[in-house]
Amino acid sequence: MRTVLISGAGIAGQSLAYWLHRHGFTPTVVERAPAPRAQGHTVDLRGVSFDVVRRMGLLEKVRDAAVDSRGMSYVDATGRRVADMPASFLGGNGVVGEVEILRGDLVDIFHQATEGKVEYVFDDTITSLAQAPDGVRVTFERSAARVFDLVVGADGAHSVTRSLAFGEESRFSRELGCHLAYFTAPNVFGIQDWELFHNLPGRRVAALRPSRRAEEVKVLLGFASKPLDHGDARRQKQIVAEVFAGAGWQVPAMLREMAAATDFYFDAATQVVMDGWSRGRVVLLGDAGYSPSPLGGGGTGLAVVGAYVLAGELAEAGGDHEVAFAAYEREMRGLVRQRQKLPPGGVNGFVPNSRVAIGMRNLSIRLLPHLPWSGLIEKMVTDPDAITLNDYGLPSPPPIL
Ligand SMILES: Cc1cc2nc3c(=O)[nH]c(=O)nc-3n(C[C@H](O)[C@H](O)[C@H](O)COP(=O)(O)OP(=O)(O)OC[C@H]3O[C@@H](n4cnc5c(N)ncnc54)[C@H](O)[C@@H]3O)c2cc1C
Repeated sequence: MRTVLISGAGIAGQSLAYWLHRHGFTPTVVERAPAPRAQGHTVDLRGVSFDVVRRMGLLEKVRDAAVDSRGMSYVDATGRRVADMPASFLGGNGVVGEVEILRGDLVDIFHQATEGKVEYVFDDTITSLAQAPDGVRVTFERSAARVFDLVVGADGAHSVTRSLAFGEESRFSRELGCHLAYFTAPNVFGIQDWELFHNLPGRRVAALRPSRRAEEVKVLLGFASKPLDHGDARRQKQIVAEVFAGAGWQVPAMLREMAAATDFYFDAATQVVMDGWSRGRVVLLGDAGYSPSPLGGGGTGLAVVGAYVLAGELAEAGGDHEVAFAAYEREMRGLVRQRQKLPPGGVNGFVPNSRVAIGMRNLSIRLLPHLPWSGLIEKMVTDPDAITLNDYGLPSPPPIL
């Protein structure tokens, strides 16, 4: 059991390729884009996912690329900071993680760690999977058909591998009732090391987040909505512009910058919930199998830990995929359940409905650190990660300094 096809060169796919290579397997990664997709805002690594990056020997690189993020402030329409959540909020278990890194920088670091060791096929996608007792015959849009021992779907929340092997997306996908648009803009807003978050009545939110480069900023525009017909990027930008028309604060400048943004990314906030992550020789990893949605966050951490566990269990089982997939699921279930819990209020907490609800939310954040029972709340949110990492026969990594 040595050849593994991984669909998707995102965080999940590349970290799995790294670990499979280390355990002596031969991974091939097929990615639909012509190169690793380096878009995205900051993603966070904390707790057990931080530990996996340390085990990869990439901690220094990740720390060097980290974004200096001091915390998040809610601002009113005049830009006045009305409630602060510093990085230390809730004992460091708030919105800002142990290490905040741009998704694109993490994708690059994982790519550099695997390039030359792992076969990458860009600009292609799986078109069919046929399972046989001794392998999976895979056809591609552009490349010739090949047979692999195993296939891993690490191709994100809208996974093609999942559709081909498990059934259509609607069976596993839970839209949370909110759409999000992400893009990069020139830092005409003067953002430094604090993220600014502005809720607007009508269940909308506009946010500006620091990037690693001072001259650019990451913009988020989100709004509650029913499922939408997305269309292409032009149509999506039009939808966002209509939803935010007439809004105050920095929104007019954000909309101007959105028109020119080349890395615009728009999607419904969606969780993926499945009873099982494998079918025969095909298994799912990361957002493809258990996306927690950007509202809960933590998708990157789950992908990194899932890759470590899946590769480790395959090595431990001597390549017996049935044993390995069952162990992977047993090890990961608790963590996935934990990370799929939405923050208090769910979508309503993210985009409160009215001015009064926004004011109440801001007040509760301001008061929280001063409440006599704030220590208790801190303990409640400081859930230790529901997994203990095995070493899978690899040498112990150096301690975190
Ligand atoms: C462009 C982009 C921007 C993102 N921005 C953010 C962000 O700002 N904040 C945040 O919290 N999360 C963001 N995410 C999601 C975040 O990366 C994931 O939640 C998390 O890192 C888990 O990653 P994943 O590898 O499972 O999925 P993904 O990061 O979605 O990666 C999946 C990969 O599979 C590729 N792929 C998709 N379909 C196919 C196919 N048919 N064949 C081959 N390859 C395919 C995609 O191009 C992508 O490279 C973004 C994802 C993408 C793709």
